[in-house]
Amino acid sequence: MNNKCPWCGSGNAQINLWLRDEFLTKEDFHICECLDCGLLYTMPRPDKDKIGAYYKSEEYYSHQENKNGFIPKIYERVKSINLKHKYKLATQGLLNGIMLDIGCGVGDFLHSAELHGWECIGVEPSEDAKAIARKRMKAKLISSEDLEGIPDATFDVITMWHVLEHVDDLKWQVTQLQRLIKPNGRIVIALPNYRSYDAQYYKELWAAYDVPRHLNHFNQKVLTKIFKTRGLELVKMDKLRWDAYYVSYMSEQYSNHSLPLVRGFYRGFVSNCKARRSGEWSSLVYVFERKVKN
Ligand SMILES: [Zn+2]
Repeated sequence: MNNKCPWCGSGNAQINLWLRDEFLTKEDFHICECLDCGLLYTMPRPDKDKIGAYYKSEEYYSHQENKNGFIPKIYERVKSINLKHKYKLATQGLLNGIMLDIGCGVGDFLHSAELHGWECIGVEPSEDAKAIARKRMKAKLISSEDLEGIPDATFDVITMWHVLEHVDDLKWQVTQLQRLIKPNGRIVIALPNYRSYDAQYYKELWAAYDVPRHLNHFNQKVLTKIFKTRGLELVKMDKLRWDAYYVSYMSEQYSNHSLPLVRGFYRGFVSNCKARRSGEWSSLVYVFERKVKN
């Protein structure tokens, strides 16, 4: 079993948190902190051919569509507000070009970019999600390995919305980002933030640890440093403010509290209030650019 840091390869680590897969299997995991580069990573890491089993659930919303009921309805409404915000973050100040969305799911984001005139390519490992995405848009849908066949400097924009935390081979993925983005192109990365108030409050029951689906856990300093080593400069930070509510609601469910919706809403609200001062939102969006000097 490989227990080295997925970024720097160091075996020098400490265990920060013991937790379990609250969402699906109830299996035990722990989170290690690399004492050399500062990255947090999930241990033990499921083998590549076994990880699919941890995603099999009817409740895995990101690959679902058209669900009835109160929570899914709120989820759909928030998703639509989020989509507009995400599109703006990814494209503000740019002319149309070619966009890559890694981990595109059923294609919600990519579809909206396509409607705005972007040429789109999506990467998605789930065949079920790809089949749904294929029905609704023209975008070419590929697998992660296919990225290696795409020429250098192809994309104006690359997005990963809550995806980098799932990536098994972090070094390979960052290398591909660096290689595929055009000079002065933009890379947008959305991630859960374990430095947020809701993470500190729920501790091992914080739903956005989501082990073992989340293999890597980032903070602002570590991610910025990782990208900087590849010539990718942080140009903007933003947030997905609704995630604090959703993550808190899920965390309340894992805590077996009564009225998880009410409690989760309250805790999400407190988290967002605190984040206005600290900048440590429950979900952060990092905007990087590959700066090229003339
Ligand atoms: Zn490391």
